Amino acid sequence: MLSAYITHPSSLLHEMGREHPECPERVSAIHDYLLAQGLLDFMLPQTAPAATHAQVERVHASLYVAELVAAAPKSGYVHIDPDTAMNPHTLDAAWHAAGAVVLATELVARGDVATAFCNVRPAGHHATRAAGMGFCFFNNVAVGIAHALEEFGLERVALVDFDVHHGNGSEDIFASDERVLMVSTFERGLYPYNGEVATGPNLCNVPLERYTKSDALREAVTQHWLPALDDFRPQMIFVSAGFDAHRDDDMSRLGWVDNDYAWMTRELVNVAQRHAQGRIVSVLEGGYVLPVLARCAAAHVRVLIGAD
Ligand SMILES: [Zn+2]
Repeated sequence: MLSAYITHPSSLLHEMGREHPECPERVSAIHDYLLAQGLLDFMLPQTAPAATHAQVERVHASLYVAELVAAAPKSGYVHIDPDTAMNPHTLDAAWHAAGAVVLATELVARGDVATAFCNVRPAGHHATRAAGMGFCFFNNVAVGIAHALEEFGLERVALVDFDVHHGNGSEDIFASDERVLMVSTFERGLYPYNGEVATGPNLCNVPLERYTKSDALREAVTQHWLPALDDFRPQMIFVSAGFDAHRDDDMSRLGWVDNDYAWMTRELVNVAQRHAQGRIVSVLEGGYVLPVLARCAAAHVRVLIGAD
């Protein structure tokens, strides 16, 4: 098996209220489409374990984790910001979403599979060291990166974030950590309203103007990401895979299309093959129009498993 597919039933139980765009159906839409396209036939299915406190607290303040545990409701919702709420299942889903990336990291770092895709929620890239926000509680991808660095002794790990929103949480956690290179694109002026000026020399932030389309995206990747990645020579690549920059996603004004996700993934696979023995761990972040999300995730996965 070339690639692992990791999810957990709790991803379908965490929800933040009726009509909230970050809904459980996102995970099932991706799952169903990967299944219908026959892509899951080529993947090793795995159920995510819960991450441990020690794994999560490599990247989050233990006080924040304790506060989150204490805040979890027995019924109803508890809001941690106006858009981000916990229901009785949220904490369980958050532990397993982070655990999915820990497992993906282990499978890929050990060489059991070359790549892994984590179809889990809640998302993570807005969660900073000391605070959840923007639909995120634990920074799943950061937990995986820390695991790769600490448990497998890797010295250089890259994080690629192509979600339309800036991954401020990942930036907060890894700024000036020379073991991590973070490259990202995001729409300028959109939530969380930062990222314009990178806060560390290991960050390659590329803000894109509203209405940016494929050609400019591909230029940003070619001009900024690829040289930085080649210079850095990552031993493993992590991806914050948000699909909300698609032109049909109403969360943003960028104009990416399905093919852009395939193209970008191919570029990342090439970098991984040059420097990282092909090792890529990809983790779901945003993407809110279900059919578009499902198609783009499939375009991404099809390249990750070597079928495109
Ligand atoms: Zn997003």
